[in-house]
Amino acid sequence: MAKLQLKKVAKVYEDGYRAVKNIDLDIQDKEFIVLVGPSGCGKSTTLRMIAGLEGISEGEMYIGETLVNNIPPKERDIAMVFQSYALYPHMTVRDNIAFALRMAGISKTVRYQRVDEVAKTLQLTDLLDKKPGALSGGQRQRVALGRAMVRDPKVFLLDEPLSNLDAKLRVTMRSEIVNLHRKLETTFVYVTHDQTEAMTMGTRIAVMSVGNVEQFDTPANLYYNPANVFVAEFIGSPQMNMIHGKIIKENDVIYFQTVENKIRLPQEIVDRLTVEATGQDVLLGIRPENIDYADDPEETNVITVNAKNVEQVGSDTYVYFDLKAAARESFARFNPPRMIPLGADIPLTMDLTKVMLFDKGSEQAILTPRPVEGVF
Ligand code: ADP
Repeated sequence: MAKLQLKKVAKVYEDGYRAVKNIDLDIQDKEFIVLVGPSGCGKSTTLRMIAGLEGISEGEMYIGETLVNNIPPKERDIAMVFQSYALYPHMTVRDNIAFALRMAGISKTVRYQRVDEVAKTLQLTDLLDKKPGALSGGQRQRVALGRAMVRDPKVFLLDEPLSNLDAKLRVTMRSEIVNLHRKLETTFVYVTHDQTEAMTMGTRIAVMSVGNVEQFDTPANLYYNPANVFVAEFIGSPQMNMIHGKIIKENDVIYFQTVENKIRLPQEIVDRLTVEATGQDVLLGIRPENIDYADDPEETNVITVNAKNVEQVGSDTYVYFDLKAAARESFARFNPPRMIPLGADIPLTMDLTKVMLFDKGSEQAILTPRPVEGVF
């Protein structure tokens, strides 16, 4: 059993900096967990505390039923894969993979048998006699994974393992690591700053910002039911649009009013409000794919914007525009793509059943989550 629990865990570095602030994470056996967040938010520190490479300043950490706060790294039954691979350049791939077993005093026959098994899983068999210098980036990364695997650890920790690879190889290695997790049926904790990597790999994802876990949830929930503005803006590319406004009520009808427009909110959104929001300043979030070209200009809730930039990416068309009420530049994503002349005034319609609402002060969601089972 490799359940992993962090209870109110904090890290205060020697200089007094609180890099991780009282985080709770309850990781089940065999899960693939991703810690994601901008640079400096405490992902590596958290991972290093799990590995035992960094002391835990406050709180408790359990692996299985064992409190591991004071258990040294070697005895935690954990393997870590680093971004830098950390391979020994003078040793062959075989000896690199076998290294930990040699240190543990395991016989040469057993060692090489185990290396052969691992090499087969990772498709490294033909490379076993080569040295790391003769391998490509992706192959080196597989050797680094092999070095971790050979010890048959309870938990795998991976710290940005793909960041040294080019974009195409990253995509291939992404699915190789996911397949490896399926094969090994072991708990994986994976650190990345890349939200696409997080979304495509994790069974659950902890989104972190400045030492806090903002939300620990499935990819679908992070995308469709972000708990706050930080998660809403961090997950999804291009970013979710955020529009400032107020909830108002006129003749029993609920509207979202901005400096430019007054939009009637659909009943299904009104029904999901968790607070009596009338008069409240809010942020309305809408994803670019929920904004479409209004083919019928007579439709209600059509707004006209100026296409200040247009990107054709083949499958979709991205249109950039400014709204007075938006905190920053806004985007629409048309699928299928369509011809939009640069600088044209275009009519847009929003699928208002998909909007998200956040309290402007606390930036927390004020809608109950919408069901996401089976969405993806
Ligand atoms: P991430 O992995 O999310 O980029 P880190 O966990 O590496 O973030 O770092 C979190 C914060 O802690 C950063 O602000 C970093 O500068 C700080 N930090 C990291 N290591 C130390 C250290 N040894 N002493 C003091 N501050 C540190």
